[in-house]
Amino acid sequence: SAARIPNFSGNDEINDLADQFNQMLDQVQRYIEQQKQFVGDVSHELRTPVAVIEGHLNLLNRWGKDDPEVLDESLKAASQEAERMNSLIEEMLQLTRAEQVESKNVQEITDVREVIMGVVDSIQMLHQDFSILSDIEMNADVSVRMTRNHLEQILIILLDNAVKYSTKRKEVHLSADTTPQEIHIVVQDFGMGISPESQQRIFDRFYRVDKARSRERGGNGLGLSIAYRLVKAYGGQLTVDSVEGSGSMFKVTLPTISESIPESTDHEED
Ligand code: ADP
Repeated sequence: SAARIPNFSGNDEINDLADQFNQMLDQVQRYIEQQKQFVGDVSHELRTPVAVIEGHLNLLNRWGKDDPEVLDESLKAASQEAERMNSLIEEMLQLTRAEQVESKNVQEITDVREVIMGVVDSIQMLHQDFSILSDIEMNADVSVRMTRNHLEQILIILLDNAVKYSTKRKEVHLSADTTPQEIHIVVQDFGMGISPESQQRIFDRFYRVDKARSRERGGNGLGLSIAYRLVKAYGGQLTVDSVEGSGSMFKVTLPTISESIPESTDHEED
């Protein structure tokens, strides 16, 4: 590992500088380790779809020319896998972007109630066999300083998961309320739930409780890590409360724009 500056006994100023330098060095090294880990994880995740596509190309090459059934199935399977790869890459980009959000540079003001209603509507449209019930105890003018797109992304990830990991009871509840300082949004499902050990890891990138099951539902294990990083970037919190076999509750807390600040009476959109 890189050379650290040793402490020179006797000179406090130099020792302080050395300490600062060493701390920076540690930070850089931690960052490099994280990047290495990420590249390793990504390569590992891309291996499966590439192997699947290769397998189907092999089948096509051997039997596809004579057997229309093989031709049809392998073409379909390979292009499905390419699509999954596409969504994996798209989600990895979203994760990288989420890590780069600097909330102090964001000026956009977003109406929370309106975004919630829009997202609930679109998830309901996509899953007509579900009841997406919402209970929004919030005035129309409650706002957060974050991009509309990011708030939508967070809610879509949580609602999408709630639907994806539901079992018999096809019902998802969203409730929202506010205090003067913060908004709370809770997404609740009555599905498979998450064990206490897994609850500690679900916000890690690429973590899936059941790889096969998540994969079969199109999951890459990145949704919650994207949501978590976004919420954190805006000074909020994302927590989970779940009981295996009965369901899960995800809670988002975000700081509101204080209504007592006079400058913020004009809600401009960027
Ligand atoms: P994925 O794309 O696999 O859904 P996420 O990062 O969104 O990835 O979630 C990580 C894992 O956490 C999922 O694979 C699943 O095992 C678990 N999980 C997420 N949301 C729920 C939920 N509402 N109920 C049960 N398990 C969940």
